Amino acid sequence: MVRLRFAPSPTGKLHLGNVRTAVFNWLYARKHNGKFILRIEDTDLARSEERYVEAIKKDLEWLGLHWDEIYFQSQRFDIYREYARKLVEMGRAYYCTCTREEIEARQKNNPNVKFGIKYDRHCRGNTLEPKDKNYVIRFDIGEFDYVEFEDKVKGRVVVPFSDLDDLVIIKGDGSPTYNFAVVIDDHLMGITHVIRGEDHLTNTAKQILIYKALGFDIPVFAHLPLILNKNKSPLSKREGSINIEYYRKQGYIPEGIINYLARLGWSHGDQEIFTIEELINLFDIEDLNKSNAVFDDQKMLWVNSEHIKMLSPEKFLKYYKIFLEENELGETLSDEFIVNAFEVYKTRINTLWDFYNSTRIYTTDDVDVDPSFEVEKMIDDAVKKSFRDLIDSLDDIIFKPHEEGESILRSIPERYGIKLKQFGPPLRIVLTNSKVSPGLVDVIKLLGKEKVVKRISKYL
Ligand code: GLU
Repeated sequence: MVRLRFAPSPTGKLHLGNVRTAVFNWLYARKHNGKFILRIEDTDLARSEERYVEAIKKDLEWLGLHWDEIYFQSQRFDIYREYARKLVEMGRAYYCTCTREEIEARQKNNPNVKFGIKYDRHCRGNTLEPKDKNYVIRFDIGEFDYVEFEDKVKGRVVVPFSDLDDLVIIKGDGSPTYNFAVVIDDHLMGITHVIRGEDHLTNTAKQILIYKALGFDIPVFAHLPLILNKNKSPLSKREGSINIEYYRKQGYIPEGIINYLARLGWSHGDQEIFTIEELINLFDIEDLNKSNAVFDDQKMLWVNSEHIKMLSPEKFLKYYKIFLEENELGETLSDEFIVNAFEVYKTRINTLWDFYNSTRIYTTDDVDVDPSFEVEKMIDDAVKKSFRDLIDSLDDIIFKPHEEGESILRSIPERYGIKLKQFGPPLRIVLTNSKVSPGLVDVIKLLGKEKVVKRISKYL
């Protein structure tokens, strides 16, 4: 059984980089009918916040990245301390009472210290728990030339001894460090594959030393290349605007975000648009890209528009209601109307905001036509006659099948000796206050007789 986990720290909202990691783990778990575990890494009690836990859960649920099990590291401190004591008993960890000042003073006074700012192992072998002094527990990494492991993306990774240190595993306040808790949890939770950002590559070497000391099986590792901005700076440096909540408010939909993020670091030929089912079937760790991915907001927008087109009316309605709520927008249009309008507009919008903005013309009886269109100049006597004829033909246009309505509309200007292009443009402006809109029959059907009559009559 394949078991994967997503392990965010609740010290902020999820951004695109976090979610890409979640997506790959989730896809792989689903592909192999395995389990996807959400592990909240809230060991840093000062920086972790409940509101971020809630935000993370909300984002994952909205995205459809449902988890099978959830754990909180803050509820597992006893377990980490027990394993730390075990390592002490085995002679692979020790109590350390050195203060930072003491360590630094020794480094300054000793020209032979090669460890840079690293710990000089002063307390190594200290297996008696100090009763009267504050202490941390350090892992004794031993002596070796390098740590070596196979990464599914990076290939063979070698981390030299000089990059490693007798790392703290339990801090002075009794909480575990990330590198320790992660090993204990990945082992106890039966994690088979770890997919995470390449910023954890050196940590992996430390973790492998702990796995080996405790005799645990080592999972498969896959470290994802960074996501860069177009100017090649790391994406994580751009604040604020790129968390998932922002995209939800901007009118992006889960399928669009997941598809776009999956392609940031993974590919399948030159296919760009994938349904979620296709991603589950096609995704493989072996196909993760080795080079950094570049974030392209215009491409993300396009991918989103492609997925909006593919939505079922029910799903569209569901996402649209969440969107309205998130933006605290009131909506007077009925569900039935929204679904009908979606069919007409879905090929013309990139985001739910586009849908919202485009459909405002249906919420009022009348529209204020922008004077800069100078529509009056376009409405001569023949056009007026056509408009009157249109009013008489509205029942047929609205209630007959679309094709028939279309030919009724087209036949109107002919009768008054004008071309369709003299009739259509002013009609469009009068009805929608815009030079672009869906087909006029669609607009007329959505507006309904009363609104059409009202908007035209002003000009007759
Ligand atoms: N809490 C860590 C992070 O957010 C998890 C890293 C990991 O997946 O091991 O970076």
